[in-house]
Amino acid sequence: MPLAYEVLTWAFSFAGQRLATSLPADVSEPLKPPEKIMAKYKLEYIWLDGYTPLASLRSKTQIKEFASFPKLSELPVWGFDGSSTQQAEGKSSDIVLKPVASFPDSTRKNGVLVMCECFQHTGVASPSNSRATIPDDPDTWFGFEQEYFFWKDGAPLGFPVGGFPAPQGPYYTGVGYRNVGNIAREIVEKHIDICLDAGINIEGINAEVAKGQWEFQIFGKGSKNAADQMWVARYILARLGESYGVDIEWRCKPILAPFQQPLDWNGSGMHSNFSTKYMREVGGKEYFEKLMAAFNQYRDEHIAVYGPENHLRLTGLHETQSIDKFSYGVADRGASIRVPHSFVNNGYKGYLEDRRPNSAADPYLVAGRILKTIQTVPTK
Ligand code: ADP
Ligand code: MN
Ligand code: MN
Ligand code: MN
Repeated sequence: MPLAYEVLTWAFSFAGQRLATSLPADVSEPLKPPEKIMAKYKLEYIWLDGYTPLASLRSKTQIKEFASFPKLSELPVWGFDGSSTQQAEGKSSDIVLKPVASFPDSTRKNGVLVMCECFQHTGVASPSNSRATIPDDPDTWFGFEQEYFFWKDGAPLGFPVGGFPAPQGPYYTGVGYRNVGNIAREIVEKHIDICLDAGINIEGINAEVAKGQWEFQIFGKGSKNAADQMWVARYILARLGESYGVDIEWRCKPILAPFQQPLDWNGSGMHSNFSTKYMREVGGKEYFEKLMAAFNQYRDEHIAVYGPENHLRLTGLHETQSIDKFSYGVADRGASIRVPHSFVNNGYKGYLEDRRPNSAADPYLVAGRILKTIQTVPTK
């Protein structure tokens, strides 16, 4: 039986083929291009509001039809009511949103995350639009280490109600329920995946020194590109926390005793690693020393954009230099700028780590200031 069945199916398929090849082509019908199937995309426009000293992320969705995943240049300019975000007076409050970077959003069907710059209706950049003001250079690379706290009921996630957990020590890169609880790692894992799906260069994560404190690292080429990725990675994390009833605390020193008295709990930084083409390829001790002299000269300008409340964090304790001093040192985590061993071993070539920017700092302003200072140092 099986043999007869096989013979029969072979005969039919052979006949079918003969039939198909022997039929004349219908020459009267012109060749049509394949029909474009339009799909509705959810465009999440993201921007920074006008709150000071700490701008918050805002976003809203518009639905638009495209034949395929939209290119940045296809995304329309949009707007919002700036009087509700401290970006405009009530009378003439329309603020223009201009898309500047876009990323696939794997958490939504046909989702797109659209980072935007804000402009007033006159075409002038909004005061909150830090991105519009900074220098850029695609050959300057940035690696940001974003530390943050998961925050619930007024305390870091995992702190007992009204009290403190066991002192710092086991939490940094820790494992096990007693060290990291049972929610944080799930959020962190999802955050990695959503970032990777979006094409964001997330380079790693780790549990940090304080309980409930974590870090992720973002690498990007160019100040605007690196900072775009960082802001969108922050957005993804904050949004992800919603479904766990957990907030992200970006402020740099959220655990303090009354009257802002210090406690033995680490603050959060956004260490900023940087290298220019010249630093990577030429470098040298002499250039390095000139660079550090410039960083010393512009110390106040750097601190001004390295995040609010940084005096609470840059105390000289907890792997920091104090806010009013500038120093650098090989493998020195108590310096303003840490010089990696590899930098010295390679003839003062490679990248440096500015440890002063804090977790709430605006990465546009941080990267922009670093580049601006570098640009004051002649390379010949
Ligand atoms: P740490 O020892 O300070 O915790 P991490 O491994 O967390 O260091 O972060 C190191 C960072 O340095 C990463 O974000 C990485 O992208 C960045 N980095 C590495 N090489 C370069 C480079 N050449 N230029 C700029 N940043 C770099
Ligand atoms: Mn790190
Ligand atoms: Mn860290
Ligand atoms: Mn670091």
